[in-house]
Order: sequence, then C-alpha cells, then structure tokens
Amino acid sequence: MPHATTETLAQTEQTPDHSLFVRFVAGRDVGCPVCDYSIRDLTGPTCPECGCALELRVGSPHLRTGAWVFAIVSFALALGFDGVVSIMFTAMLVLNPTQRWEPIGMVTLFFLLAASMLAGVLLLVRRRTLWARRPLRQQWAIAIAIFLIVGLLHAAVGGVFVLTVGGAKAKGPAPSAGPSSS
Ligand SMILES: [Zn+2]
Repeated sequence: MPHATTETLAQTEQTPDHSLFVRFVAGRDVGCPVCDYSIRDLTGPTCPECGCALELRVGSPHLRTGAWVFAIVSFALALGFDGVVSIMFTAMLVLNPTQRWEPIGMVTLFFLLAASMLAGVLLLVRRRTLWARRPLRQQWAIAIAIFLIVGLLHAAVGGVFVLTVGGAKAKGPAPSAGPSSS
C-alpha cells in the first residue's frame, strides 16, 4: 500500500539504480514481499517465483496500518449502518406521511450520526500524517477509544430508539383489535 510518506527509491532517483537492491539482498535471507519466496542473492529487481517487480524503500513502524484501519473500520461500519437506517426511515416517512413526530426525530438523529461517522473517516484519511507521527501505542489507544465511543454512541441511540418507538407503540393505536380491552 503506497503512502505519501514512503517514497520509493525509484521515485526519488531519476534513473532507477538497482545496484543498491542487489547489494541489499546479497547474502541476506529476505523473502519476496508478495509470495515470500527467498530472494537472497537476486541479481535483478524481479521475483523469480511470482514475477513481481521489487524495490527498496524506506519504511517506518509508525506507518503500520493495524490501528489506523481498526479506527477507519469502526467509523465505516457505523457509517454503513447509519446510512442504511437513515434511508429506511426516510423511505418510511415518504411512503407514510401521516407518521407521528418520533420517526422524524430518529431520521434526524441517524443522519447526524451518519454525518459524524463520515467526518471521522475523512478526518482519519486526510490527517494520516498527524496520526502516523504518534507512537504506535498511542495510535492503538486512540483507535480503541474510537471503537468504544462509536459503540457507546450507537448503544445510546439504540436506547433512545427503543424508548421512543416503544413508548409510541405503548400509547399507539391499540384499541382497534384489543382482545383484553376494558
Ligand atoms: Zn514473489
């Protein structure tokens, strides 16, 4: 996965010089990053097993993607859920305009949630460099905090939903077919 902060040697040097690559793999037990075939003592920048092009690059442990992907997935999963629920509620309101006010409140709430989750995804993508500057432990701490906050937020909204819809049902149009009425 190419990042803005890991420039490849081929990009920085006008004429790709493979001698550095050849010297690096000379006598070194290193596997092809694609197929894991040993490329020790390779004489050119192509894997003899899978045929993929190879290059030397400068990396950083700060750019390990685990925590960042975990944070993005937390926001993205919630965004998908909130998006689908928003659309369903909107369709419900459009198809049945004589609804009471509760669904309108829920639509607004889910649209706000979806917008916040989208903002979270965009923030993580656009501020990748700021994220990467933090130590790995801190990256994971933030990612786990994001996961928990998103989860708790949705649990709270779920609670509000149950209370409003449940409350609406309790005082809703029941007397039409109530077998145990009066
Ligand atoms: Zn390979």
